[in-house]
Amino acid sequence: MVQTPIEKKVSKVEKLKERSNFLREPLLSELQQDTTHFTEDATQILKFHGSYQQDNRDHRVSGQEKDYQMMLRTRSPGGFIPPELFLALDRLAEEYGNHTLRITTRQGFQIHGILKQNMKTVIKTILNNMGSTLSACGDVNRNIMSPPAPFKNKPEYQYAFKYANNIADLLNPQSGAYYEIWLDGEKAVSVEEAPEVKAARQSKGRGMIIENSPEPIYGEQFLPRKFKICVTVPGDNSVDVYTHDISLVVMTNKKGELQGFNVLAGGGLGRTHNKEETFARISDEIGYVDRADIYDLVKAIVATQRDYGDRTNRRHSRMKYLIHDWGVEKFKAKVESYFGKELKPYKKLPAWQYQDFLGWHEQGDGNWFFGIGVENGRVKDEGAFQLKTALREIVQQLNLPMRLSPNHNIILCEIAPEQKATVENILNNRGIITDPQAIEPLTRYSMACPALPTCGLAVTESERALPGITDRIRTLLNKLGMVDEHFVMRMTGCPNGCARPYMAELGFVGSAPEKYQIWLGGTPNQTQLAQPYEQKMSVDELETFFEPIFVFFKQGRKSKESFGSFCSRVGFAAIRNFAENYTLGSYMDMDTDTTTQPKFRKNQRRVSVPDHLFPRLKEIAEKEGRPMNQIIADALSDYFSKSKEA
Ligand code: SF4
Repeated sequence: MVQTPIEKKVSKVEKLKERSNFLREPLLSELQQDTTHFTEDATQILKFHGSYQQDNRDHRVSGQEKDYQMMLRTRSPGGFIPPELFLALDRLAEEYGNHTLRITTRQGFQIHGILKQNMKTVIKTILNNMGSTLSACGDVNRNIMSPPAPFKNKPEYQYAFKYANNIADLLNPQSGAYYEIWLDGEKAVSVEEAPEVKAARQSKGRGMIIENSPEPIYGEQFLPRKFKICVTVPGDNSVDVYTHDISLVVMTNKKGELQGFNVLAGGGLGRTHNKEETFARISDEIGYVDRADIYDLVKAIVATQRDYGDRTNRRHSRMKYLIHDWGVEKFKAKVESYFGKELKPYKKLPAWQYQDFLGWHEQGDGNWFFGIGVENGRVKDEGAFQLKTALREIVQQLNLPMRLSPNHNIILCEIAPEQKATVENILNNRGIITDPQAIEPLTRYSMACPALPTCGLAVTESERALPGITDRIRTLLNKLGMVDEHFVMRMTGCPNGCARPYMAELGFVGSAPEKYQIWLGGTPNQTQLAQPYEQKMSVDELETFFEPIFVFFKQGRKSKESFGSFCSRVGFAAIRNFAENYTLGSYMDMDTDTTTQPKFRKNQRRVSVPDHLFPRLKEIAEKEGRPMNQIIADALSDYFSKSKEA
């Protein structure tokens, strides 16, 4: 058993993992029982097999059993979905699921709505069609991300995809429990592991491996918490590079030959409201390793988190907290002690850019790829919009693979020039927008998590709410004369942050029913953490809340400055001050007069309040039912009269 160096009482989940016989029990026994759902203990183990037990929260009735169903998530490194897997998932969603597929923000597919009794059939079908769900959830390495563009003439893109696959294989659980349970011990139809992966698994390092264990990398308690990795290329931030436990950047020479990898570590976004010890964190640049050392380096980092990550408090168990608590230098030194050598200095990189690869692109080998924007990642048929049917028809007719993007879009790959018209015709006939410029840009760059009705952690809507909120924000921007304005918006139904709202220019994080914490200050290329501006914005107040902020941005932005960069540059005190003194509707009135200055209430002047005083001021204003500026005016008048007396 792997033990934390300082023995403390480990969390309940740690004991469950240890007792599970390497992820078998009590799942295996309960699967054979004629029940509608798993016990809490089995659901914890089920996660490692790629599934969450959920219930349809729209169907909850007091006193009645919940409408239990399972969500299944695919393990799809780099978002690769072979044609046979897409067709299988499409069929399974119809026969056993809720008739839709959901693209995740880590480049996998989710099927929702599967009954317990059908789980074995569904997982077996996925396994027999070049897919897997193993370790798509749970305290293990999750789906490894890489840029979804299948450029054949840019070797760095090929390397990123290859290493995403190989590292995913390296960190796959090894005990065989998954195949025993879902395939009755048969071998799955899958691509053979690369010989270099098999060799890398044997490499012992200095304590990286747990000898004589069925799980040499993880041990019987696996990792303290989920673990996320991406592999990208210099300058391509389609993967949200700062948000992973480990991010690797492939470094090539001028001839396009792989030399090594820049390494970042310690990113992670999940947090809990009102728990200051939990926070979103972006990763640190920790160094560079040569190509030959990459697998050992990954294993050394995983071993560090395995042996020193917090197993007593799951809220504090992601590797980001280990790095935060230790500091980067101590963390690096510990990794190097497993690795057996020092990391080299991080190499200079070009600026990061966000790319979504929508529309037509040449692959570089004579074929093309085509990116389709998928609102909120939901693949469905609804009225004239029939994305699910369109994809089925395209894949059936042309046998094309696809790559899922980290922004929950789809990229159809390997399209021969003579097939382009067929792809476009099918999409057009099924009501899908094929011109990326015709997609509302607020929608194009937005993301939302599934939240209600399936996610048990959601405190409010996300996927179902974002389209309406986007419409209202567009209407408001248009009224303010900001017709061409757009920015990155992301929404989640709880602070876990599955759609990475803390990197958005405008992030909505569910904080109560119909209420959102508002985060401002991320950048269009996702390189800067946003900050919480408001704790509970009611959906009803959306327009009145954002109007002054957008007006301030319009008036105060520098040339081409983005909304998020503006918010970060001017600071929240200035935004609040402007909003406090702004008269709603005044800018719209003036805009029609082509006036550029905002109207302020007569006889008022603007005064800034330091950020740390603002929450207290707001609290008093709400408690006493008085405007904030009135409270400040009263306090100042009191102060002045006392100074006079003195
Ligand atoms: Fe569920 Fe929260 Fe993740 Fe949304 S962010 S899917 S509500 S856990």
